[in-house]
Amino acid sequence: MSVELKERTVRYVAKSVPAMDGAGVRLKRAFGNLQGINLDPFLLLDDIHSDDPKDTIAGFPMHPHRGIETVSYLLDGKFEHRDSLGNHGVINSGEIQWMTAGSGIIHEEMPMQYNGSVRGFQLWVNLPGSHKMMQPKYQDIKRSKIKEASIDNSSTIKVLAGSFGNTSGPVEDIISRPTYLDIHIDPESEFKYVVPDNHTVMAYIIGGVAYFDSKRDKLITEDTLVVFDKGDEIKISTGNKDTRFLLMAGEPINEPVAWHGPIVMNTRKELIDAFKDLENGDFIKHDYHV
Ligand code: FE
Repeated sequence: MSVELKERTVRYVAKSVPAMDGAGVRLKRAFGNLQGINLDPFLLLDDIHSDDPKDTIAGFPMHPHRGIETVSYLLDGKFEHRDSLGNHGVINSGEIQWMTAGSGIIHEEMPMQYNGSVRGFQLWVNLPGSHKMMQPKYQDIKRSKIKEASIDNSSTIKVLAGSFGNTSGPVEDIISRPTYLDIHIDPESEFKYVVPDNHTVMAYIIGGVAYFDSKRDKLITEDTLVVFDKGDEIKISTGNKDTRFLLMAGEPINEPVAWHGPIVMNTRKELIDAFKDLENGDFIKHDYHV
């Protein structure tokens, strides 16, 4: 008996939008509080990409996070990180930092050009109410820990989190168990991937062009977000150019979202409490060290 797989067609396509954040960092926001498009459990994806130090030098000075996880993935340059408890680290090219903010961290993040450019991504993943106040933690992943899968010698898949076939990613014990892949497809090739029907699936194109469904009506270009519809299998194919994209998939948490800036809770009361804690100097609930 064979089971027919339903293709996940493209439901939404949008170019990332230039935005300014932190103390004046110019970035592109792939998504973040999109009206009418539910990307649960994902909240936000920023694309920081510049050859001009003026665009990023101001960085993201001390700011709080609560109720979420933030995932920084660097392709070029460096990202220096320091928190109010003295934890400090540098994320280098090809590395990931998966930060579970949980009950609260206050930190600064400083993107730095290296050999002239910086390119990195920050993804925010929501935490369920049961874990919003968990102890914060960091997972710093070196380049050598990121495993690569390949298909038919035409696609290479870096597994950042979750798994692809028999290849598992290095990030462990993530509450919402998302899949996060960095995929390259050669020209004139096809990539298929089955994701459980109820999961949210989307891609953000970081290089080249590709078709994101089997109709092949429209080539989708760099700096574009593609959200897939319900179904089983995504089918991505290339023409005479290659492509590279980030693929994110995860099971929705399906809880109310009360979101203000870098704090994402379930209720307005929890949000108000978080800002009161900040004012009272009582934001840090756990002593955590790396
Ligand atoms: Fe931050």
